[in-house]
Amino acid sequence: MEITNSTQVARMKEEKIARNAWGSLLSNQMQFTEQFDVVVVGAGHAGCEAAMAAARMGLKTALYTLNVDLIAQMSCNPAIGGIAKGHLVREVDALGGIMGEITDAVGIQFRLLNTSRGPAVWSPRAQCDKQAYRLKMREVLESQPNLKIKQAEVADLILEAASGFRLPASGELNAPDSEPGSQTPAAENRKPEAPHAGSRVVGIKLRDGRTVRASAVIITTGTFLNGLIHCGEQQYPAGRSGEPNAVLLGEALKKLGLRGCRLKTGTPPRLDGRTIDWSRFAEQPGDADPTPFSFRTRRVAHHDSQVPCYIAYTTPETHRIIRENVHRSPMYSGQIQSIGPRYCPSIEDKIVKFPDKEMHQLFLEPEGLNTHEIYVNGMSTSLPVDVQLEILKSIPGLENAEMLRPGYAIEYDSIDPTELERTLETRKISGLFLGGQINGTSGYEEAACQGLMAGINAALQVKQQPPLILDRTEAYTAILIDDLISKGTNEPYRMFTSRAEFRLHLRIDNADRRLTPHGRRVGLISDQAWEDFEAKQERLQEVKKFLESTRLTPATLETIVNFHTLCHPERSEAKPNAVEGPAVLPGSAWGSATGQTLAQLLKRPEVTVEQLAPILQGLIPDFFNRSKNPAPSGDSAVKLSSQVRNELKSVETEIKYEGYLLQQERAMDRLKKSEQHSIPDWFDYSSISGLSREMQEKLTHVRPRTIGQASRIPGVTPAAVSLVNVYIEIQTRRRDQATAI
Ligand SMILES: Cc1cc2nc3c(=O)[nH]c(=O)nc-3n(C[C@H](O)[C@H](O)[C@H](O)COP(=O)(O)OP(=O)(O)OC[C@H]3O[C@@H](n4cnc5c(N)ncnc54)[C@H](O)[C@@H]3O)c2cc1C
Repeated sequence: MEITNSTQVARMKEEKIARNAWGSLLSNQMQFTEQFDVVVVGAGHAGCEAAMAAARMGLKTALYTLNVDLIAQMSCNPAIGGIAKGHLVREVDALGGIMGEITDAVGIQFRLLNTSRGPAVWSPRAQCDKQAYRLKMREVLESQPNLKIKQAEVADLILEAASGFRLPASGELNAPDSEPGSQTPAAENRKPEAPHAGSRVVGIKLRDGRTVRASAVIITTGTFLNGLIHCGEQQYPAGRSGEPNAVLLGEALKKLGLRGCRLKTGTPPRLDGRTIDWSRFAEQPGDADPTPFSFRTRRVAHHDSQVPCYIAYTTPETHRIIRENVHRSPMYSGQIQSIGPRYCPSIEDKIVKFPDKEMHQLFLEPEGLNTHEIYVNGMSTSLPVDVQLEILKSIPGLENAEMLRPGYAIEYDSIDPTELERTLETRKISGLFLGGQINGTSGYEEAACQGLMAGINAALQVKQQPPLILDRTEAYTAILIDDLISKGTNEPYRMFTSRAEFRLHLRIDNADRRLTPHGRRVGLISDQAWEDFEAKQERLQEVKKFLESTRLTPATLETIVNFHTLCHPERSEAKPNAVEGPAVLPGSAWGSATGQTLAQLLKRPEVTVEQLAPILQGLIPDFFNRSKNPAPSGDSAVKLSSQVRNELKSVETEIKYEGYLLQQERAMDRLKKSEQHSIPDWFDYSSISGLSREMQEKLTHVRPRTIGQASRIPGVTPAAVSLVNVYIEIQTRRRDQATAI
């Protein structure tokens, strides 16, 4: 790089300021007390996945957190999964993450949701023993070679300026503008409010003064950055109830010039289960044969010892109490200005926003097997404690309930995710990755998938290997990241299946087919797991081919009809909705199927793969005779273990929805094409005539990497996208001509 006067001046200015401010810290002979390849800040749901991934990819990794006894603490509901969140957990597992296996080990109730609807929205959910979840996560992390867990508060980042000098994130430096071309493209686009753009993170500084060197740093600090708890008129700094907030790091990140926003979330009160009159509530049990989260789990640990949840409802008295006190809620008194999760409204929000609704459903969920603590799902609130107690008394069965912990709301700093690349690296500071709630999402599952992707990409960067970038046709995880970096978010972002363009392709049953090969490439899928994965894909292919090539004969027909008539004489005549389970076609209806392939038969909406199981078991016994785990007893249908049943259902879906899937594949190819059309780093939107100033600002703010991403920025019109398309060629040509001279 050629050194000119002004650059010299800039460097000397930097040195002088820095030397004053930081003495020895700045000399590039800085002494680090420890050295790692990857440092992860925060052992929450994002941090645990990030640290595990980097360590399993062979890198020397350290995980710093405020309290090692609260690793993977479930700050809010004692549950993993649910609508679309279950999809994310399956994807984390398919890529080689650990949330799924841990949930299968400590889950105390499992339910597969939405099974009355199409397979695209089936989603697993599990109640977890919170304490057991923490202990299991710690056990897994501690048993991982290359991974060190450390209790300490990270107070600052140590950066290396493009000029090679080191400076703390919180140390201000006003470098004069330097020569064009002498800096990285990011620097060229550097705005005055981005003092450190083009810098590289080279370590962290702990509150106790230690400095730790790292080639990549991943920040996953959840709700802790400048966290502020609100409970009625009371407010006090905290990261969550009972834990300190992180102010120093919050301020240091602000000084990095990363755009930020202030968000809010809330949690409900916890009750003492011994003071609840359970007879007043409807029981909600788990599934008889739970579906595991992990593709590597054969049988969930508490298969035969699940605990129920209970369903409660608010009353008109509850609504009256809330209406009369809503002015004391920080959300309505103006005490809280920031925005909360629209999809996880507080109870006061529900009463105000749905005044006509007579009652709101609540779920009483156990927090664990070794505690009487009960989580009141649906009653998140920041109303004063006295009002919360009145509300509880107004609900039949909770009149005498004792509150163990009050509900509260928390405001916290998060970073505007349009500051990030698809790898979750910050655009302005290389080597700095962000994951989880800090990026504006809400939920353990949303945090875990980001943590995993940040961990993988930080590790790949340190290993100088190409990044892992998934696209919207492959995973909800990619949709989450793309939505965040393209659209940003002004409220906590929660995943929904409706966010996916191709949700029939992004089902829970095929997450491994979509993602496990990626996990294998980056080194997160063990040989055994890979072998099992390949064997399963082969099995599924064989069964599909078998169904597509085997025709129904009178003999097999008789087997099916006799079997079902035998098992369910009451169902021999099709009486829809009369009794549970699939109707059994009367013999006559099957008659017309003779000669058809089993796949053609399966395409009939009223036919399910379970109905064909009696003949399949005889025809392809190997597919069935492999489960060490007997199917649940008492059910007279063909005994299918959850593993066999889920694999059969996966094949059934591929056959039943073949037409839709093909249609979607064509649309996916179109999207992939637009994703491959990249937009150069240096592209200048301000020189596109015909592009409105508003569009120029939107595109310059986000700086999309592809035409596809540009098309998803809110407010960017298709017309604007095609203009950009045309000008990419024009500007590239002009640029080539300019450099050719
Ligand atoms: C009160 C409350 C209510 C919530 N309600 C909901 C809800 O209703 N629905 C929902 O989906 N999600 C809710 N959540 C969010 C859910 O808990 C988070 O989405 C999830 O935990 C985020 O995971 P994370 O890994 O990003 O951060 P967290 O799980 O918050 O973990 C952050 C970790 O970072 C550590 N840390 C922070 N600062 C530092 C530092 N400077 N140095 C070292 N370590 C540090 C902390 O010790 C902690 O271990 C709620 C959270 C809270 C606190």
